Amino acid sequence: MAYMINDDCISCGACESECPVSCISEGDGKYSIDKDTCIDCGVCAAACPVDAIAEAK
Ligand code: SF4
Ligand code: SF4
Repeated sequence: MAYMINDDCISCGACESECPVSCISEGDGKYSIDKDTCIDCGVCAAACPVDAIAEAK
């Protein structure tokens, strides 16, 4: 179950540099996670200042 970034993302970029497998990239209006590469470590969720990252249900 990969992590996902919701619409609360303010495109600060803090999560991108934290991801150990570099699966976060800047998208249209918000950042996004490549769900096929994400290893569910949760590091990005802890780094996000607006709590926009959560495990997909
Ligand atoms: Fe990267 Fe880990 Fe976040 Fe997945 S949960 S996007 S692997 S930092
Ligand atoms: Fe968006 Fe949060 Fe990542 Fe910043 S840390 S780019 S607000 S998801």
